[in-house]
Amino acid sequence: MRGLVSEEVLGWIVKVPLNFINRKDEPVWKVARNGKYEVKKGYYATKNMNTKVVDRASSSTVLSGELWKKVWRIKALPKIIHFIWRCLVRALPVREELARRKCRVPVNCPICNKEVETIEHALFTYPWAKSVWFGSELALRFEKASFGNLGSWCMQVLVEEKFLDDFQLAYVAWLMWLIWKERNNAVFEFKAVNLVKVINEASKAVREFWEAKGWTRWWKGKMRM
Ligand SMILES: [Zn+2]
Repeated sequence: MRGLVSEEVLGWIVKVPLNFINRKDEPVWKVARNGKYEVKKGYYATKNMNTKVVDRASSSTVLSGELWKKVWRIKALPKIIHFIWRCLVRALPVREELARRKCRVPVNCPICNKEVETIEHALFTYPWAKSVWFGSELALRFEKASFGNLGSWCMQVLVEEKFLDDFQLAYVAWLMWLIWKERNNAVFEFKAVNLVKVINEASKAVREFWEAKGWTRWWKGKMRM
């Protein structure tokens, strides 16, 4: 990983609780031949191999090494990049993941209580999250039926570079993080989710970060800020 990401990012990655994602019944990483998980080999795998992330009992997405490289290069704060990585390896403690890890929790979404809380549901496809995305300056529309899963969507926007430029990708990453934070505030602090707050925070955070880095947004030859 050294050379591919900054020391700061590396620090974040190394702190990830690996036991949490190293499930015996569902291999997430192509790991060592002896089957023993080691941090070094795990990261080597993400960098050099195609990694199969099992995201449903019935479907899976192959996430390429290229995707991980692109994730580390998202122009956002290391903690945001780290969060995106956790989402992609399905280490985000949404209800579905907790239930899969045999935690005794209801699987339904703690906010709408209408569907199983998957990562896709919590961050993209339930009504409140959808309104955040559509109300943001990206005006993205997410529908459950067409969204598929996070891995395949990230392959499209990060590897195939469809739809979004670097600034927009950073904005997406920040929004995902803030939507998750807001969800946690609602679940653990009993606060109402606030759409305007999330959108404004995302816009502000991305711009401040880019300005501090001296980056300019270029898109199809034209600068747009
Ligand atoms: Zn919900």
